[in-house]
Amino acid sequence: MVSLKEMQKLKDALRPYEKKLQSQEKLRRLLGVNEVERPTYERYIIKPIERFDRRKNAFLTLLANNPFGAEFRTRFRERTGVDHYSSPLPYSELSPEDRIGQSLTAASWRLCREYEPKSLPITDSGGRVEITDQVEMTRLIKKVALFFGAEMVRITRIDPRWIYKDVDISHPYAIIAVVSHPRPLNQTSPSHLSSLAVAHTYSNLKFITTHLADFIRGLGYDAVYRETLGRNPEMLMVPMAIDAGVGEFARNGRVLSPEFGINMRLKAVTTDLPIEPDKPISFGVHEFCLSCEECARQYPVGAIPFGPPSEKLADPLHNNPGFRKWYIHAERCLTFWAVNRKKWSTCGGRCINFCPWNKPISFWHNMVRWAAIHSPAKLKRILVLADRFFYHGK
Ligand code: SF4
Repeated sequence: MVSLKEMQKLKDALRPYEKKLQSQEKLRRLLGVNEVERPTYERYIIKPIERFDRRKNAFLTLLANNPFGAEFRTRFRERTGVDHYSSPLPYSELSPEDRIGQSLTAASWRLCREYEPKSLPITDSGGRVEITDQVEMTRLIKKVALFFGAEMVRITRIDPRWIYKDVDISHPYAIIAVVSHPRPLNQTSPSHLSSLAVAHTYSNLKFITTHLADFIRGLGYDAVYRETLGRNPEMLMVPMAIDAGVGEFARNGRVLSPEFGINMRLKAVTTDLPIEPDKPISFGVHEFCLSCEECARQYPVGAIPFGPPSEKLADPLHNNPGFRKWYIHAERCLTFWAVNRKKWSTCGGRCINFCPWNKPISFWHNMVRWAAIHSPAKLKRILVLADRFFYHGK
């Protein structure tokens, strides 16, 4: 039997990560971020939600032979001249700067796209670490994930509605790892360099989640890193991360956290290791997005809606009905990327770049964060306009 409480050497070695966890918890307390019993996305649900068929995932509908995407693929081909937004361009067609950007992006996607390691074997039951303190084990898992490179780690009990229809996951918990985009790269969006930020972040997450899964298997429990992209997505990360308390649902369809705004990517490890789930949080994202609309305003092809949430499915093929929320028009995003593929392989988060929450952690920005959370609608609007005035020119 292993009692983590007695393992002083391990605790000492991981002290920097304990401090990081504590400072994250302190920041949320100072900002007045509330933990709540039920996720705030429940305000958007208007009828029972069916598990989503992953063949309707926007990226998968571009693949030949997908029964759901035939009309979409024809339209896409007519508008863009290619079958896929990431069809490689000959370097001779690129400017020198874009050639370097495209090479960097291609290099950075490799780990995410091609690294599919076979999991390490699970230690047999004789060698299983017996957990005497679930809270301590949860803390250890979070510190180890931070050590591997995560910037935030949260845990949720898995809600089966957020697993794709034909995917079977029996584990009770999902550990969500968060990594933010390097801001200077994201600020170039749309460009090959902002695509690089996305590729780099997802590859880091692949590294973190595969290592974390193997660590847990070494303890004698089942754990699997989960694909969320590519040809084999397994779970919907947005509601899963909201359940875990990473953040709340935002206008552009992403999770908005108090620390990173929407400038982050997520991946998960699912496990049967006995750990404590975190609670969802509430800090007024719905109200802020009602006063803001910057992502909708700055995204040039109308993929992000203006106004209040709606139950109208702008892009019925790629969206799951049953919500009154801000539905995203994924087809427009993919078409926009493909039409401009000389300049970028994906836009790399133009909606992210212009979100007022996309700011570093500092005393000044934390004051503004506090005001954004606690102020009435009119003052929120003034904060948005001030952000536009001070930062958008850059
Ligand atoms: S840009 Fe504004 S509306 Fe869009 S997600 Fe950020 S806060 Fe919400």
